[in-house]
Amino acid sequence: MFATLSDRLADTFKNLRGKGRLSEADIDATAREIRIALLEADVALPVVKEFVGAVKERARGEEVSGALNPAQQIVKIVNEELVEILGGETRRLRFAKNPPTVIMLAGLQGAGKTTLAAKLALWLKEQGSSPMLVAADLQRPNAVNQLQVNGERAGVTVFAPEPGNGVGDPVAVAKAGVAEARRTLHDVVIVDTAGRLGVDAEMMQQASDIRDAVEPDETLFVVDAMIGQDAVNTARAFLDGVGYDGVVLTKLDGDARGGAALSIRSVTGKPVMFASAGEKLTDFDVFHPDRMASRILD
Ligand code: GDP
Repeated sequence: MFATLSDRLADTFKNLRGKGRLSEADIDATAREIRIALLEADVALPVVKEFVGAVKERARGEEVSGALNPAQQIVKIVNEELVEILGGETRRLRFAKNPPTVIMLAGLQGAGKTTLAAKLALWLKEQGSSPMLVAADLQRPNAVNQLQVNGERAGVTVFAPEPGNGVGDPVAVAKAGVAEARRTLHDVVIVDTAGRLGVDAEMMQQASDIRDAVEPDETLFVVDAMIGQDAVNTARAFLDGVGYDGVVLTKLDGDARGGAALSIRSVTGKPVMFASAGEKLTDFDVFHPDRMASRILD
């Protein structure tokens, strides 16, 4: 993950090793190399500009500390700025005062929502919750069945449409699912919704209707990190069309560049909350900006 960026930054820092003091030219050259590294990683241009500007400013102004040589100081600055663009603090899930906590998932078809729903449910179960999954993706023919299979694998109850449950109407299914979770004392309910292959007004409307019907405590936008800048554009479109509280990055295992992960927070103002990196149900974790930055600089 992010191998090219890691290598590029490591080379940049290597060039500074052994220098007693950084000249203006050293700082400019370093800033240029960081800029290229970020652009090659497919980071959005405004984010690159802001990042490089901040590093430069701090490198010029940094007090010469006895403990760190100039190269180490640059690494420290870059690390802190990476944590910052990745979101700073870890944003944890907010649970409702009166259960069930309603979590709605939104995103394009193929983003990994259905897989993610089961991963999140398993993770919640391991944290001591009693989650229920609601199959309100009635667009993709196999989505309901896929959620049922994954739910079973995770050992989690799945609410699926059946005659009388409002078959064909995702808003009715979502509402009935949340009511069922309340009735059966599940403390978290995760609503899987339908995506389309591309950004589409009808999909946005349906997701908005479901949101209005179930009033989620957390709406999570699920996005495939491998699509790079397209992920950022889609994130922006969903923010305008549906709105959400946080982002889940999927397929980080196949994302060699890291552009989406590094751009999405700055571009949308919404935190990345979870990361999915594989097809197994356990390939899932809370997104920690500080750990991600350390991995990049490892
Ligand atoms: P949905 O249309 O948004 O519900 O997407 P799915 O959950 O059906 O996922 C689409 C495909 O991506 C499936 O083949 C999943 O197995 C795969 N997938 C989901 N998450 C990940 C991940 O983190 N890594 C990898 N490599 N594949 C994933």
